[in-house]
Amino acid sequence: MNVYSLFHERTANAGTFLLSPNLQEISSYADLHDYAGQLAAGIEAIGVKPGDRVIAQVDKTPQALYLYFACLRIGAIYLPLNTAYQEDELAFFVNDASPKLIVSDPSRASFFQQLSGDHEVLTLDAEGEGSLIQACLLTKSADICERADNDIAVILYTSGTTGRPKGAMVTHGNLAANGLTLLEAWQWQAGDVMLHALPIFHIHGLFVATHLPVLNGSPIILLPAFDPNHVADLLPHATVYMGVPTNYTRLLDSGRLNKETCRNMRLFTSGSAPLLPQTFTEFADTTGFEIVERYGMTETGMNTSNPIHGVRKPGTVGPPLSGVSARVVDDHGTPAETGTPGNLEVKGTNVFKGYWQLPEKTEEEFTEDGFFKTGDIATKDDDGYIAIVGRNKDMIISGGLNVYPKEIETVIDRLPGVLESAVIGLPHSDFGEGVCAVIVAEEGAELDEQVLTEELKSRLANFKVPKWIHVLPSLPRNTMGKVQKNVLREMFG
Ligand code: AMP
Repeated sequence: MNVYSLFHERTANAGTFLLSPNLQEISSYADLHDYAGQLAAGIEAIGVKPGDRVIAQVDKTPQALYLYFACLRIGAIYLPLNTAYQEDELAFFVNDASPKLIVSDPSRASFFQQLSGDHEVLTLDAEGEGSLIQACLLTKSADICERADNDIAVILYTSGTTGRPKGAMVTHGNLAANGLTLLEAWQWQAGDVMLHALPIFHIHGLFVATHLPVLNGSPIILLPAFDPNHVADLLPHATVYMGVPTNYTRLLDSGRLNKETCRNMRLFTSGSAPLLPQTFTEFADTTGFEIVERYGMTETGMNTSNPIHGVRKPGTVGPPLSGVSARVVDDHGTPAETGTPGNLEVKGTNVFKGYWQLPEKTEEEFTEDGFFKTGDIATKDDDGYIAIVGRNKDMIISGGLNVYPKEIETVIDRLPGVLESAVIGLPHSDFGEGVCAVIVAEEGAELDEQVLTEELKSRLANFKVPKWIHVLPSLPRNTMGKVQKNVLREMFG
């Protein structure tokens, strides 16, 4: 079915949809369906049909969310783009996706207009105003269009840190299945209020942090962006917060968190990048809450999660969610021994349909028995908990031996004076690749490369000991908190 119908059904008797940062009601669920119906009729009048792509490169506003729901409603394919993308990148997406409609900030409208293609351009600014709203003002409501589970709902370009971005085709069935699974797994309940500070051009903020409150008919406090003080101010009014690991470290650094600020909270989740065990522990000591770390990706939605009831193991992403099969295999597809790193493959109704207009690439990424090759290297423990130890592309082969960056990062992070680290492979005349560690010191700590190397030699096999160590004030990260190892490779390569 059209996932919009599911949202519609589940919010039939719901009250508030969006709350502003000063806790005023912006819209009810009835308003959401009215606005989405109206916007849908407006963009239909422009000529958008089921299956047409609608690109949105817009700020995070209530209207941007209404536009998303409007697209779902009429079966148009929603294609959100990071607001940080620059013109060359945007030209690539427009050419690749050939949209029927592009909605952008007014400052970008003329750029989009002059790109070749059969698209209309409408605007939506950071205040939620623009020609999109004008064009849809006097329209009637459009009906919910029938869709099959396998029809594409959204195309999300992977944030892949190397190579050409690929459009992941996420279906109505994927969104419905993954949403309902998470609703159950994280025990959404009456009275829940979501504090939403994530961007909405990415799976984490759009699918997880928006779909779940909608499926539960819960209010969302919508923040335009993450700000630790803002989040701390609003935590007492929320029950659920979802963040990337850097949100949590910045919240802890703000000194604004304590058990009192979190008195009404029920759930904190983390994902999109690894949560340091140190952050997990510090957060638990400060707030009394163990962050629920989960693991997902654009292509698969959420695959695993630490449990609500049961042990949450720091440094792991928990067991597979219900309906998801996850296996760790070696390069020949043979299941890896417990605790041995291998390729993580997943299968389930959460897994996407393939890459937009790349049938061969899609085929390469699936095994013969239908598992998707995530490209993540993982281990599984005796209890079935999965730990992500690196990315396939990040794996370093030094003198023919495999080195998993995460293993070394974990050892480095435990050394005194180290805040965090990133390990990359760099060309090495003897070994092909050598291990390079980029380290951030704790505030006030002085790190000595010689001393660090000696320490690491006593803890790691020689081939894993970094051949180069660099100390930086901070690690380069993208908007989702992922360390940009490609930037480090360029800096030190
Ligand atoms: P994206 O498609 O942008 O959501 O990126 C997905 C990738 O982020 C995954 O393939 C993992 O490499 C990484 N990732 C997501 N969640 C976690 C997590 N909890 N721990 C470690 N890596 C994660």
